[in-house]
Amino acid sequence: PYEHMLKIREQNIAPSLRMYYKKPLLLHQGHMQWLFDYEGRRYLDLFAGIVTVSVGHCHPKVTMAAQKQLACLWHTTNIYMHPSIHEYAEKLTSFLPDPLKVVYLTNSGSEANDLAMFMARLYTRNFDIICFRGAYHGGSPYALGLTSIGSYKHGVANGIGCSTTMLPDVFRGPWGGSNCRDSPVQTVRRCSCSEGVCHANEQYIEQFKDTLNTSVPKTIAGFIAEPIQGVNGAVQYPKGFLKEAYQLVRERGGVCISDEVQTGFGRTGSHFWGFQTHDVVPDIITLAKGIGNERCMFRQLRLLINLKIANSLAQNLHFNTFGGNPLACVVGSAVLDAIEEDNLQKNSKDVGTYMLLELAKLRDKFEIVGDVRGKGLMIGIEMVTDKDSRHPLPSEEINQIWEDCKDMGVLIGRGGLYNQTLRVKPPMCITKKDVDFAVEVIHTALEKHMG
Ligand code: PMP
Repeated sequence: PYEHMLKIREQNIAPSLRMYYKKPLLLHQGHMQWLFDYEGRRYLDLFAGIVTVSVGHCHPKVTMAAQKQLACLWHTTNIYMHPSIHEYAEKLTSFLPDPLKVVYLTNSGSEANDLAMFMARLYTRNFDIICFRGAYHGGSPYALGLTSIGSYKHGVANGIGCSTTMLPDVFRGPWGGSNCRDSPVQTVRRCSCSEGVCHANEQYIEQFKDTLNTSVPKTIAGFIAEPIQGVNGAVQYPKGFLKEAYQLVRERGGVCISDEVQTGFGRTGSHFWGFQTHDVVPDIITLAKGIGNERCMFRQLRLLINLKIANSLAQNLHFNTFGGNPLACVVGSAVLDAIEEDNLQKNSKDVGTYMLLELAKLRDKFEIVGDVRGKGLMIGIEMVTDKDSRHPLPSEEINQIWEDCKDMGVLIGRGGLYNQTLRVKPPMCITKKDVDFAVEVIHTALEKHMG
């Protein structure tokens, strides 16, 4: 069947949907943090279906909720009431501070970001959106304008119908932030901060101000940022940066949007939402991925909006067919229950911190591990030729290490501007014993590479 599958793939599935690994995996089953192929091989999943399977593959509680609802009612769209939608909206908003109390139900993270931009524009009657270099906010034509990782843009600079201003240089090159970032492990780069003042932050804030003043002096609609850049490889801002940035945007009348697609639902460990780690409250947050744990069939991505801003859309009908179907809503509810009952936010914090510290030992041992960073179970391992030059390790070399990890039973994600960062974002039910296994495997692959 493997060869047959490859043939179908080649003939009937769009080639831009690229697969991982020279010999792509043909998977059969998933159970919590584990995946199984048809030959019965078991893999520790450190990428969780791209940061999506937050509570574990086929989590029993979520599976049961879905099965029960499947036998009852799948879909009616938003024109009728169903208790699941209301219960879920109430439950989800109970996890959020005022004024983020209005839920809009969409179908993907990209769509949620499209709508967030649309709302910011409607509300402010301005047009320009500020975002960061290295950001990923989606692949739809609108959201593509925000995504600045080159290979996703296909040479269409700002997406269609979207005039977006990119911040030129807030995060330069592959290195994320300074020593002042909020992480249990620090960079090997020496920090130039003194007496509690972060100079990197001052420098970034100056650049940010400059962009605001020169590019969008009177035309800002909104500012969007991930609390930690996900696709870019767990890139973090210096402490305090985002808070100041929010203030500057608001002083100029802009709306602040937090893209929580990867950082939400307890993944960063210390807080339930990424924005809380920066001590800010956004006007709009966008959610996807971990919200539904798995399966596009559940299609229940969310936009959480400040009521005032939500009202700017109220005069008009804005609609999508699948958003908020009963099946999606009961699954969303079960995911929230599982996060609480299985204590997964705390697990993200404890196991994530343990993993960061273990991986930092590899960084200290191997010249090609340039940086280990992140928070909770959102971790980036940046591969470089050497710690002085900090050039990205050539792709073929990273590929070999990554493939070797797979062959030894550990699946890892990839990201970064040069695809040079290994991304570790497992289901949040992962244990310290799993971490020991994963770190041992990565260690063996690195040793093999160094000869
Ligand atoms: N925002 C972020 C931070 C993401 O990581 C992604 C997906 N990688 C998106 C938005 C887009 O989500 P979707 O793929 O569901 O459209």
